[in-house]
Amino acid sequence: MATWQCVKQCGACCHLDASDRPDLDEYLLPDELALYLSMVGSDGWCINYDRIERECRIYAHRPRFCRVESEVFGDMYGIEPEELNDFAIECCEQQITGVYGDLSLEMVRFESAVGISLDLPPKLSSQGFS
Ligand code: SF4
Ligand code: SF4
Repeated sequence: MATWQCVKQCGACCHLDASDRPDLDEYLLPDELALYLSMVGSDGWCINYDRIERECRIYAHRPRFCRVESEVFGDMYGIEPEELNDFAIECCEQQITGVYGDLSLEMVRFESAVGISLDLPPKLSSQGFS
């Protein structure tokens, strides 16, 4: 079974461009929405995201909506604790696809880390790669 984890130096979910997330007001409280919008830089990335180091500069103090935690996802998306793993994996895949592409190195790293077998082209699969 695949087990969700955040992969270091991915950062796909720190690309906050609100045009990619038109339903923000459906799951963020008004003050959270205001905070979210205040964090969107002119390039669409979070102003707290270090693009060189590819990590959050305020990780220990990041907002609630940045946290993949059972209580947070229950409040925001109505996800039950037992659904969190699969839902979080799907969220990451969507975000990585949107930011880097579904064939990106970031996607390969993520799927490898969580334990999803890679969809290799038939030629590589037949050569014993997995
Ligand atoms: S998209 Fe997923 S793996 Fe990538 S930084 Fe965000 S939580 Fe981590
Ligand atoms: S506060 Fe940190 S974790 Fe949250 S979006 Fe910004 S850089 Fe990413």
